[in-house]
Amino acid sequence: MDISYRAPKFAHPFSRHTVIILTSLTDLRAALADHRTAGRRVGLVPTMGFLHAGHMSLVEYARAHSDVVVMTIFVNPTQFAPTEDLAKYPRDIPRDTAMAEKAGVDILFVPAVDEIYPAGFDTFVMPGAQGSILEGAIRPTHFRGVLTVVAKLFNMILPDVAVFGQKDFQQALLLRKMARDLNFAVDVLIAPIVREADGLAMSSRNVYLSPDERAQARVLSASLAEALHRIADGERSAAQLEQAIRTHIMSAPAAAIDYIAIAAADTLAPVEQLEPGRTAVIALAVRIGKTRLLDNILVENL
Ligand code: AMP
Repeated sequence: MDISYRAPKFAHPFSRHTVIILTSLTDLRAALADHRTAGRRVGLVPTMGFLHAGHMSLVEYARAHSDVVVMTIFVNPTQFAPTEDLAKYPRDIPRDTAMAEKAGVDILFVPAVDEIYPAGFDTFVMPGAQGSILEGAIRPTHFRGVLTVVAKLFNMILPDVAVFGQKDFQQALLLRKMARDLNFAVDVLIAPIVREADGLAMSSRNVYLSPDERAQARVLSASLAEALHRIADGERSAAQLEQAIRTHIMSAPAAAIDYIAIAAADTLAPVEQLEPGRTAVIALAVRIGKTRLLDNILVENL
């Protein structure tokens, strides 16, 4: 009797999806070459790991727009200033692997630092003017690091689409601009912000918050919700909205505001008055204790 098991030619819809974990660029290129030969579209989701539901939503977005989803997990040293949290950035690759697999990631690329930055690496992608305002004003070398690593991932993976989160609005805008300005043949998609039940935007850095700080962190999203209510009631003045947001945030004793920006959503140029037909973004960077948090909302369809 033949008891040898033959795998079905096509995966059964209920069979468990398995993710392939790769750490070497050579293996990654070989795996992708097979998919490309088969004519499959490749979707890329770059992350720094310590995954949460926000990252999972990017995978879902990528799956909807491609046939093979590559997620990268790489805590990119060039986007951290020497004073920042590179060493203590949260990491949990086993947990991330299980989550990525469950979300339907096909290839998980987890390179070591010297795979991305071999000895002698010394070439960077510099953002233009939109990279030196807001986050760029406070973290002057940050976007240079982000653009450089994503340009490298684009060249390594040659994705058809790449998905980034609106949570890091300025970053997503700069990456879309980089793809256009430097002719990367990739569609940069921007997925909405995934939030905790109380409104806090999900972030790997939320684990830094003490329980008391976590409760106070609610003021970011709550102040944006209040601004939307005021806009619905007819407020159009950016100065008035900014003042209302500032007052709301400062009601949390642990909060310190880095910036509140009300700007054109396509250029990040400051706006004084909200106007119909011009989508604006209200973007916040707020420190709660030692933890720096970002949030934003789009104001459209006035
Ligand atoms: P990170 O691992 O924090 O570098 O984030 C990787 C990607 O996930 C970036 O494109 C982020 O903008 C995106 N992202 C982070 N948090 C969220 C969130 N709460 N909702 C949607 N996307 C997010």
